[in-house]
Amino acid sequence: MFRRYTNKFLEIKNMKKIAIIPGDGIGKEVMKAAQYVLDYFDLNFDYNNALAGRECFYKTGSTIPDETLKIAKKSDAILFGAITSTPNQKSPIVTLRKELETYGNLRPIKSFKGVKSIYNDLDFLIVRENTEGLYSQDEEIIEEDEKVIAKKIITKKASKRICEFAFKQTIKESRKKVTAAHKSNVLKLTDGLFKKTFYEVAKDYPNIETEDYYVDATSLYIVTMPQIFDVIVTENLYGDILSDEAAGLVGGLGLTPSGNIGEKYGLFEPVHGSAPDIAGKHISNPIAILLSTSMMLSYLKYEYEAKLIEKACSEVLRKGNVLTPDLGGKAKTYEMADAVLCNIRELE
Ligand code: ATP
Repeated sequence: MFRRYTNKFLEIKNMKKIAIIPGDGIGKEVMKAAQYVLDYFDLNFDYNNALAGRECFYKTGSTIPDETLKIAKKSDAILFGAITSTPNQKSPIVTLRKELETYGNLRPIKSFKGVKSIYNDLDFLIVRENTEGLYSQDEEIIEEDEKVIAKKIITKKASKRICEFAFKQTIKESRKKVTAAHKSNVLKLTDGLFKKTFYEVAKDYPNIETEDYYVDATSLYIVTMPQIFDVIVTENLYGDILSDEAAGLVGGLGLTPSGNIGEKYGLFEPVHGSAPDIAGKHISNPIAILLSTSMMLSYLKYEYEAKLIEKACSEVLRKGNVLTPDLGGKAKTYEMADAVLCNIRELE
């Protein structure tokens, strides 16, 4: 009897709290797919649903209510769907990244066998700074309708933190090279500081190859010779643009996951948005959120389950008989999620 209580106590003590924020549009559809797969594993997780996004704004008057921030801050990890932006209102995901200090955004770019794409041999990682740059959202009207300015904030502290994070991730993933992308020939102060800090940090990692390119050249090379990249580290806006560009090379937004990592929290989300054009049709591709879920499980040290999801997603794409329309198939979101689950069972 005592042992049973002890076990129960340990189970509760080790229970991970997960905030689930489906958001709007296809965010809600793909989140159901993620929960379906998570439920299968029956992990020791305590799930807490929270609201954010445009629908939430209509309901509560806020795109990201305090209650949601409270739930997120009490969690070990947060799984986020997608939101539709609301004019003149705070962006929930930018607010979450800032409030949770998840300064490092990881965007793996991997080719999948069976997916028709421009390249089929890609495997690199984009590491995006998440807390500053033009996303400081510090804009000012100098002259109404004539002149407006946006401040780009780059600090030594955040640049150092993201570059260190990129080098550590390079080691963790047994990668070999880090490329910094910037525009220091034009933005001499801001991007100049980023570049300088990158090479200062690089001195602590002598076994890792380093290089830097202007961001325009980087975006060209991502299209013309992406195989040269292993890890790209860059500031906020460049990272956003480069990762969408790179997603286009490996089968589109329906396949690209991301993780936002800080000292205390991990926030995981597909790179795609709420896709209002297909929302409600149940044809959204769930692979991006399933791979984000896999990243979350790996972050929480559930490596076995994380790998199973990743492998099962690859298998479904390789077999190619259950695909959503964005990949040329006719399957519904839940059918593809079910195919992933069937493959998980087969692989176990
Ligand atoms: P938002 O303003 O919310 O970012 P958006 O339409 O501008 O929405 P996305 O939501 O990322 O941007 O969608 C861009 C395109 O990619 C759309 O045509 C959308 O249908 C498609 N798309 C995005 N995610 C998926 C997905 N998971 N499955 C299928 N198609 C997708």
